[in-house]
Amino acid sequence: MTKTALITGITGQDGYYLSRLLLSKGYRVVGLIPPERRSSMAKLDELVEKVEFRAVDLTDAQILREVVAELQPDEIYNLAAPSFVPHSWNDPLGTLDLITGTATRLLAAVRQVGLSDRTRFYQASSSEMFGTVAESPQDENTPFRPKNPYAAAKLHAHWTMVHHRERYNLFACSGILYNHESPRRPPSFVTRKITLTAASIKLGYSNILEMGNLDAKRDWGYAGDYVEVMWRMLQADRPEDYVIGTGQLHSVRELVAMAFNCVDLDWQNYVEIDPKFLRSDEHFQLVANPTKARDNLQWQFQTDLSAIIEQMVSKDLQRIQLGQIEPIKTRG
Ligand code: GDP
Repeated sequence: MTKTALITGITGQDGYYLSRLLLSKGYRVVGLIPPERRSSMAKLDELVEKVEFRAVDLTDAQILREVVAELQPDEIYNLAAPSFVPHSWNDPLGTLDLITGTATRLLAAVRQVGLSDRTRFYQASSSEMFGTVAESPQDENTPFRPKNPYAAAKLHAHWTMVHHRERYNLFACSGILYNHESPRRPPSFVTRKITLTAASIKLGYSNILEMGNLDAKRDWGYAGDYVEVMWRMLQADRPEDYVIGTGQLHSVRELVAMAFNCVDLDWQNYVEIDPKFLRSDEHFQLVANPTKARDNLQWQFQTDLSAIIEQMVSKDLQRIQLGQIEPIKTRG
C-alpha cells in the first residue's frame, strides 16, 4: 500500500530533501502551500512534477481538517516556519501564529477527523529552544530557555505536540534540530552567505566579505542527513523526542577558511568585520549530544562540515557561471 505523507513548509530547504527521500521510498507526497505563495512550488526543481500540492491557508483550521480528512495521511511533517530567527523580533505574533498555530491546528485536525490511531506526526523543533543554555552539550533532558520569539513559538508548538501524545495517545515526535545546511540554504544564513561570496570573489565579481562575529560557534550538519532521521523517528516503535546534531562545534572563522580554501584564496585578504552583522543575543556552546538518536534510531550524521561547505561552494560557482543566480557584487 502506498503511504501518503503530508508536508508543510515543503518549499523550504528541508522540504526539498524530505520530499526527495520520501519519493525514493515510494511515498505519495503532498505539500501544503499558502495560496499566495503558489509560485514558490518552483523551488522544488525536478521534484515539482512528482509532488502533489494543495493551496491551503495554514491559519484556516476548517480547511486543514478537510485536507487531512481527504488525504488520510500516514505521516505529517510539520516543517512550516519563518526560518530566519532574527526576523521574529519584527513580528512576534505572526511568528507565533504560523509556528504554534499551525502545529495546534494540524494536531487537532488529526484528532477531530478520527486519525489518532493512524497518522504519525513529526514536529520540527529547534536547538533555539535551549536559548541561554543550561548545560553543554544539550540532550533531551536539558531545560529549555528560549530567548527570542521564534524559539518561544517553537517551544509552545513542541509542548502542544507533547500534550497530544500524552493526552490523546497520538504518535507524535519532535526533532530538536541544530543548524543544518546545504546548497539550498538562503543567503541570509552565514554558511550560504560565505559560500556565495567566496564563489563571487573567485569569479571576479567581488573582493570583500563583510562579516559579523567570527568567533561565534555552531553545531552545523547537513540537511540531507537530517531529513533521514525525521523519517526514522516516525518508523520507530514508540514516539519520542530527539536532539539531532553532529556533536561538533565549529567557529564562523573556520567556515570562512574552509570556503576560501575551496577556491584557493586566502580569506584574510577579503574578510572585514561590519558591526551591523554582530548580534547582541549571541548563543554560546549550542552543541548537541545526539546519543539517543544513535542508540534508538541507529542514526549518525554522514556528511562533515568541510564536505558540506565544499558542496555549497562548488554549487554556487556552477550556478553563477550558468547564470542561474546573481553573484554578490561588492567591491571594497
Ligand atoms: P542561526 O544559528 O539560525 O542564527 O544561523 P545563522 O547562519 O544566521 O548564524 C550562525 C552564526 O553566525 C551566528 O552566531 C551569527 O552571529 C554568526 N555570524 C557571523 N557573521 C554573520 C553574518 O554575516 N551573517 C549571519 N547570518 N550570521 C553571522
